[in-house]
Amino acid sequence: MITFLSGGTGTPKLLQGARRLIPDAEISVIVNTGEDIWYQGGHISPDIDTVIYLFAGSLNTDTWWGIKGDSFVTHEAINRLLPDAFMSIGDKDRAVHLARAEWLRGGMTLTQATKRLCSHFGTDGNILPMSDSEWTTYVRTKEGNIHFQEYWVRHRGNTEITGVVHVPKRQPPATPEVIDAIRRADAVIIGPSNPVTSILPILSCIGVREELAKKKVVAISPFIGDSPVSGPAAQLMKTMGFKPDSTGVQAVYADLVDLFIQDIRDTNLVQGSVRLDTLMKSPDIAEGLMREILSHVS
Ligand code: GDP
Repeated sequence: MITFLSGGTGTPKLLQGARRLIPDAEISVIVNTGEDIWYQGGHISPDIDTVIYLFAGSLNTDTWWGIKGDSFVTHEAINRLLPDAFMSIGDKDRAVHLARAEWLRGGMTLTQATKRLCSHFGTDGNILPMSDSEWTTYVRTKEGNIHFQEYWVRHRGNTEITGVVHVPKRQPPATPEVIDAIRRADAVIIGPSNPVTSILPILSCIGVREELAKKKVVAISPFIGDSPVSGPAAQLMKTMGFKPDSTGVQAVYADLVDLFIQDIRDTNLVQGSVRLDTLMKSPDIAEGLMREILSHVS
C-alpha cells in the first residue's frame, strides 16, 4: 500500500502516473478538506472531488477541477439570479455537491459521503478526507479574514494577505481511516501540493504527525527555482515565514521527511535531495517520476 497526502492539482498529477504502476486498491489518498465550502446549497470539497473524478477517469485535466465535458446550464441561469456568484460549477459537478450536502445534512460523515461517491463512480482507490470535522482555511486581509476560495477564485490571489487562519481554531482529529491508511502504508508520499493550503492542514490533524514519524516519508517539492509550478504557494509560504522555494518546502516538512525530491531544473539546492524531472506536463512524465520514486522506497 502506498499512501499519498494530496491537494487538488500537483499530487493528483502524480497520482495519474501512480495509477499506471500500482493497482487502485493498493493506493490510499488522504485529501485536504481545508478548502471545502458550502456554496449555492451544495457542499464543495474541491480536492476530494478532483481525486474522485481522477480515479473515475472523468476529471477535466485542462483545469484540474470539474468533470470533463460538463455543461454549465444551471451555472448560467443561477448567475443571472445571484450576481455575486464567483465560482463556475458544472451541472454534473453540482449534482455531486448537492448530493453530498444532502447526505451531510442527514447526518452522514464526510468519510461516509466520500465512500458513497467513490462507489457511485466505481472507483477502487481508498480516497479519504483528512478529517470529519471542519477545519477551513481563511486568509487574513486588510478587509478581514476571507475563505481561501474567495481569495483564490474571486480575487484570483490579487489581494494582499498577512496570515493564514483556520476555523474553528482547534485542530481536528484525523479519522480512524486516515490513521489506518498511514499505518498500513509501505511508504507515504507527500505529493507536490501547496505546502500551506493542502499539506499543512493534513499534517495538523491530530494523530497524523505521530503516525508519519514511524513511516518512510517521501516529499516532492512543488517549487522549481523561486516559483511554484502554479498557484499561490509563494505568497502563502512568505506569509507563513518560509522561503518561497524548495528549501522553504523542506523546512516545512523537515522532521517528517526521509527523502526529499526536487526538480532537476531547480536552482535552489536542498542538501541531500534527490533530483528528478518533476514537471508533469504529461501522464508519461508523471509515470516516469512515480517509477523513480518507487525505486527509492522499495
Ligand atoms: P490545489 O488544491 O489546487 O492548490 O492543488 P495542490 O495543492 O495539490 O497543488 C498545487 C501545487 O502543485 C502548486 O504549488 C504547484 O506548484 C504544484 N504543481 C502543479 N503541477 C506540478 C508539477 O507538474 N510538478 C510539480 N513539482 N509541482 C506541481
